[in-house]
Amino acid sequence: RLYNEVQELKGNIRVYCRIRPFLPGQNSGQTSIEYIGENGELVVANPFKQGKDTHRLFKFNKVFGQAATQEEVFLDTRPLIRSILDGYNVCIFAYGQTGSGKTYTMSGPSITSKEHWGVNYRALNDLFHLTQLRQNTVVYEVGVQMVEIYNEQVRDILSDGGSNRRLGVWNTALPNGLAVPDASMHSVRSTEDVLELMNIGLMNRTVGATALNERSSRSHCVLSVHVRGVDVETDSVLRGSLHLVDLAGSERVDRSEVTGERLKEAQHINKSLSALGDVIFALAHKNPHVPYRNSKLTQVLQSSLGGQAKTLMFVQVNPDGDSYAETVSTLKFAERVS
Ligand code: ADP
Ligand code: MG
Repeated sequence: RLYNEVQELKGNIRVYCRIRPFLPGQNSGQTSIEYIGENGELVVANPFKQGKDTHRLFKFNKVFGQAATQEEVFLDTRPLIRSILDGYNVCIFAYGQTGSGKTYTMSGPSITSKEHWGVNYRALNDLFHLTQLRQNTVVYEVGVQMVEIYNEQVRDILSDGGSNRRLGVWNTALPNGLAVPDASMHSVRSTEDVLELMNIGLMNRTVGATALNERSSRSHCVLSVHVRGVDVETDSVLRGSLHLVDLAGSERVDRSEVTGERLKEAQHINKSLSALGDVIFALAHKNPHVPYRNSKLTQVLQSSLGGQAKTLMFVQVNPDGDSYAETVSTLKFAERVS
């Protein structure tokens, strides 16, 4: 009974943890994953340290182990997608250190392999299917925006040539749910249209080199899908939106190792990820004040965080023993908001 009450209280925020598989030739040979329970329990331990008190237990809504397929992961995401057509705003994002599988979960390894499509493509595919099923009763319009947030600046990555113009963000979302009204809006009618757009967007993203991952992203990427449905009989209008967010890597950067531009990037990333954590924490605890204004990220996502919105966070984990410290810090972030 207590459990149900807790579930209800935090019903609009879900946290799924996903452990990525070991990659060939890229690990210490030891894992930090000790146990995955059926009900969202996860036990991690430092394989390089002996003794007591080395195990930590976390609990999430669900934990996907290394063998989980993209399809399985999406099955548990699907109900959220349906609710967009009922007028909800939904936000799905992936959090974790660089190389933990954020992009894999959200987009997949490549657009061409449909079998490995991530949440983004599956969600949009589903959305189009659902709108077609209802086309005799509701006429839907779907528009897509894609922005990147890098060093607290918002950039449209779907405009021609990946414009470098900085965009303004509204503090309170407009009635139509747009937080970045000047980002180009692209009308889409099929999954193919979306694939084409995302290809352009992904090519325009800012990437930088880190010791961990050559092409790791130091920016947040937000794909926003706006749905407007008009009931053919009553003419009433219903709006829903979906924000799909591939966050910048959450790893702590050693200040002694980076300077200049890289240090600035790291500071901006830290700031925006903690602002995101604070917002979700405030929502989960029903605090009267929700600090949306502390970062561009939380401002952009405001309409899909809180209120009638539904939020799903994927907490991505690299199972390698070498990543233990980062893994614990990632899991603690997630635990605080779940
Ligand atoms: P991130 O976006 O967090 O930096 P990536 O999504 O790029 O991490 O994942 C790092 C590497 O691990 C990539 O080569 C990716 O294809 C692979 N990978 C991540 N998750 C999985 C998974 N569930 N199954 C297979 N390969 C994965
Ligand atoms: Mg990535």
